[in-house]
Amino acid sequence: MVTFVIAPPEPASVAISGSPDRFPVRRIFCVGRNYAAHAREMGKDPDREPPFFFGKPADSVVDSGTTIPYPPLTNDLHHEIELVVAIGRGGSNIAIKDALDHVWGYGVGIDLTRRDLQEAAKKLGRPWDWGKGFDQSAPCGPLVRAPEVGHPAKGRVWLAVNGETRQQGDLADLIWSIPEVIAICSEAMELKAGDLIYTGTPAGVGAVEPGDRISGGVEGVGEIAITIAAAR
Ligand code: MN
Repeated sequence: MVTFVIAPPEPASVAISGSPDRFPVRRIFCVGRNYAAHAREMGKDPDREPPFFFGKPADSVVDSGTTIPYPPLTNDLHHEIELVVAIGRGGSNIAIKDALDHVWGYGVGIDLTRRDLQEAAKKLGRPWDWGKGFDQSAPCGPLVRAPEVGHPAKGRVWLAVNGETRQQGDLADLIWSIPEVIAICSEAMELKAGDLIYTGTPAGVGAVEPGDRISGGVEGVGEIAITIAAAR
């Protein structure tokens, strides 16, 4: 039996819809621009260049309903609503045709982004971690099991701030489909059970302020709501 010299952390985890059980989170992968209209609003040509990924720490995941303090070092905290894929069975070099067999379920996530730090990093050729992977930067609503809801290939994706719609899209408009994202990610990493993949955001990203309530959803999957509080 292993003896740890400090208390090991509790595993990060996500709620499961209709169950007291939780899904343990191993890693969080996020797809960059994956909707053409969002690629354009970020100043990029939405050609089908290969998708790219970045990561967030597993313990940046928080449940729907969380009140998140406005994070440090930013004046431009942005919301990005995303379909989240929860991997239930790992693998390397997964074929596109087999990819959905590796999915445990789906959820609705928000890729919170310190946009000013991300933009500065881009200009300087530096990593995105400080812009993307900060504490509580990966809210995720309750997961639904794929055998119960199927594998969504279309459906409205939306986000509202204080009840006003800011982001609108449809899963049918993903540049890279869910099976393609899983297959391509598994070429670079051996995917493992517990990995989450945030699949990219539709157009309409924007800033939020302390006191804002952010809500969103993906048709056929579920919803999420968080509140931004004053800085800690
Ligand atoms: Mn994103």
